Amino acid sequence: MRSQLKYRVDYSFEFFPPKTDKGAENIKVAAQQLAALNPKFFSCTFGAGGSTQEKTGETVSMIKEVTGIATAPHLSCIGSKKDNIRQMLLDYKAQGIDRIVALRGDMPSGMGSPGELRFANELVEFIREVTGDHFHIEVAAYPEFHPQSFNADDDLKNFKRKVEAGANSAITQYFFNPDSYFRYVDSLEKIGVDIPVVPGIMPITNYAQLARFSHMCGAEIPRWLRKRLEGFYDDREAIADYGIDVISELCRSLLEGGAPGLHFYTLNRSDTSIKIFKNLGLTD
Ligand code: FAD
Repeated sequence: MRSQLKYRVDYSFEFFPPKTDKGAENIKVAAQQLAALNPKFFSCTFGAGGSTQEKTGETVSMIKEVTGIATAPHLSCIGSKKDNIRQMLLDYKAQGIDRIVALRGDMPSGMGSPGELRFANELVEFIREVTGDHFHIEVAAYPEFHPQSFNADDDLKNFKRKVEAGANSAITQYFFNPDSYFRYVDSLEKIGVDIPVVPGIMPITNYAQLARFSHMCGAEIPRWLRKRLEGFYDDREAIADYGIDVISELCRSLLEGGAPGLHFYTLNRSDTSIKIFKNLGLTD
């Protein structure tokens, strides 16, 4: 409860579907530990065109069952038929789920047609068409801009399309430079977009993995951070300790600067988020 008193914002935690029974058990334990931090919701990612699609539904049900807290499945449209998406929406609604993270997704390599809905704004429009106002719709935002966007202005306008189609709030791609976030939110305000844009927070635990992923998704690792992390070589413990300090500081700047909440990419672990909460004075 203290978290809400200190910054009066909402927190959420993201998981990805487990591949094994042991992975599912780990998520159960992590979600129960994170539930003690009183998050607004948990979310679970969705693999575009891949085999993890049903697992998203199973994972959100499992988390809801063990924590009693609201869960939001991610749903991406690329490569999918409208009929499949309609069915998933109706199933989620019947299960009492009322929040969804709506995405375009990325086409898995080697897969053919992009499907009937080409961009996330079309998916948001479709969700509103099928289920009206039932779902609170979250969409993705990119403070350092989406890697495929033509230019920054285009990307901002494309974000606005999602809001005009009915998105209620957004979660950002991760970033390490708080100015990119504040400038992004200012730019959105200038074009008349004022939905809450919640920073997505990526922990730093494995530098090689982070560098690879950041390259793919267009998130910049600033030189000062890269040099520091490279200097730890394969000392995972030193990377994790340093990472917790850096990310705690980032969260503090964001909250002090007025961010409406924080969304943690947990990587299916609870320890890093719990340590960050402690550093921020949000828990004992
Ligand atoms: P869009 O908003 O559709 O944008 C994609 C690109 O197209 C951008 O460059 C944009 O500028 C451009 N664009 C958008 N609309 C139009 C238009 N109407 N006309 C022309 N150009 C347009 N991926 C998954 O597969 N599963 C997940 O669970 C998942 N979860 C995510 C959660 C978050 C919080 C974030 C930030 C990303 C997530 N992703 C996930 C990754 C996401 O699917 C990719 O970044 C994907 O490349 C873009 O998805 P989007 O919804 O942002 O797409």
